[in-house]
Amino acid sequence: MREYNKHNQERIILWNRRGHLRRKYGTTPEDIDAMLKEQDYKCKLCKKPFRSTPFVDHDHKTGRIRGLLCRARNIGVGHTERFNLQNLKEYLVS
Ligand SMILES: [Zn+2]
Repeated sequence: MREYNKHNQERIILWNRRGHLRRKYGTTPEDIDAMLKEQDYKCKLCKKPFRSTPFVDHDHKTGRIRGLLCRARNIGVGHTERFNLQNLKEYLVS
């Protein structure tokens, strides 16, 4: 029951952001809701259940929505995008 309430709360937050979603991502709360269900209410990267409102991660060049992420992962993706990914991979395993 607690889980259900949590999901519902997130939905309410998203619904309240209708105008924001349309302006920024060209999407609707219904689409986000479907994505949430598809991702089983978990972050697409770390696979942990959302504890707060999910972040809409989108490709800044194409505008395509890649998925819903937790705050930490969304920030991580934003930073990573500015790096050369190959350099980063090499650095991480060096
Ligand atoms: Zn995450």
